[in-house]
Amino acid sequence: MVNGYTAATLEEALNIRAEHEVVPYAGGTDLMVENRPGVTYLFLNKISELKRISVDEKYVRIGSGATFTQALEDNRVPQLMKDAVALIAAPAIRNAGTFGGNLGNGSAKADSVLIEFVADAKLRLVSLRGERIVDVDRFYLGRKKLDLRDDELIAEILLPKTGLEQYDYQKVGGRNALAISRVSFAGVFSTQDGKITNIATAFGAVADTVLRFKDLEDTLLGKTPEEAKALKAQYLKSYADRMVLTRGRVSAEYRKTVCMNLLSEFLTRFGI
Ligand SMILES: Cc1cc2nc3c(=O)[nH]c(=O)nc-3n(C[C@H](O)[C@H](O)[C@H](O)COP(=O)(O)OP(=O)(O)OC[C@H]3O[C@@H](n4cnc5c(N)ncnc54)[C@H](O)[C@@H]3O)c2cc1C
Repeated sequence: MVNGYTAATLEEALNIRAEHEVVPYAGGTDLMVENRPGVTYLFLNKISELKRISVDEKYVRIGSGATFTQALEDNRVPQLMKDAVALIAAPAIRNAGTFGGNLGNGSAKADSVLIEFVADAKLRLVSLRGERIVDVDRFYLGRKKLDLRDDELIAEILLPKTGLEQYDYQKVGGRNALAISRVSFAGVFSTQDGKITNIATAFGAVADTVLRFKDLEDTLLGKTPEEAKALKAQYLKSYADRMVLTRGRVSAEYRKTVCMNLLSEFLTRFGI
């Protein structure tokens, strides 16, 4: 028997969250597997305001309760995000699994979160006390470690509308579908007047959280791809030195080699 409260509106949900010790429950694709006895759930899947996908001048705003299938069918969602969620599991999981739920575990394997990292996405967190907007990398601190307070819910993911057009996404798994990824990579790249204005790369499923080294990326900003190419060998070495991988079913050395090959190919593709 599953105990829980069902909220029809976000306000109702926030009231319940403030008054009771509850675990938010969206699509349930992670929680069903966990099967935690004695827990009281707060069912969010009737709340239409959390399921909305909308746009404003700067962002595509994905409601935390939007499913992966919904995003795949929405032409406002950036293709990079679609490429990543299209490879999540099988249709039944994509029909139920949500963006908020993908963030909720703090797992380094969460495929939509990897894209949020390279997109410099922000999250809108809400409680009865108000709302806060946080950068995804300040929120997502490691397995089960989120900057989420007991009375808060994830309301929206704010994905920048521009700057994600030139990208690469790779998921290297044991099997393509139905595989929890072993190594996943995303990168975005922009130039203006021949100079690099943005380069963001991140790896999922290889460490306790998504790995991104912004300070290394910064060393390539303002350079032409040709100038950056001259620094490539040192860049890759510095990157490899920083990458501390957890042991998985596949050895850390193998996965690190895969990571460095993916990064090198990404740089080559953009003339570096
Ligand atoms: C067979 C299988 C294959 C899978 N393959 C993949 C895969 O390839 N890639 C991948 O990334 N994932 C995969 N998953 C994991 C899962 O489907 C995703 O993580 C999904 O996004 C979870 O969403 P959900 O709505 O079902 O979350 P739920 O199970 O409802 O919740 C997950 C967590 O998020 C919290 N939560 C949910 N909504 C909120 C909110 N609004 N505010 C605060 N906390 C919230 C919950 O409390 C819980 O801790 C797979 C799962 C299964 C069972």
